[in-house]
Amino acid sequence: MVSSPSPSPASSAPTSSDHAMLVSVFLALFLPCVGMSAVFLIYLFVLWFSTRNQSEFAKPVAGKGLSESELEKVPKVTGKELVMGTECAVCLDEIESEQPARLLPGCNHGFHLQCADAWLSRNSVCPVCRTKLDPQFFDASQDNPC
Ligand SMILES: [Zn+2]
Ligand SMILES: [Zn+2]
Repeated sequence: MVSSPSPSPASSAPTSSDHAMLVSVFLALFLPCVGMSAVFLIYLFVLWFSTRNQSEFAKPVAGKGLSESELEKVPKVTGKELVMGTECAVCLDEIESEQPARLLPGCNHGFHLQCADAWLSRNSVCPVCRTKLDPQFFDASQDNPC
């Protein structure tokens, strides 16, 4: 009489508390894991994002020099036409009178054609005096016949 009603509430009560315990144990184990992996994923994402940003920042810096079409506008001369000396400041070698060279507009510094192109494709300043080569300068000099 007493034994038959007692098992059912007694058995139902522990099961629900067991479930609650299981859930809380599960959460206690699972949540830190989720938290850790979330932090780890965020860390990875930040790392990936910063490296991606760096490479994207690197491109404009690398492309800061003159483009090929702008390079074509830099006056092409030979060594004998140079007015500011015939030593190439890029390779520190003499520019022979028959060697192709580039004469930078603005400062008239001259460099080997290949040295100038290699330098100017990465930097838009004169390697000697740091005069900025403004692409507009080439357009203006083209418009002006003198
Ligand atoms: Zn050179
Ligand atoms: Zn110069």
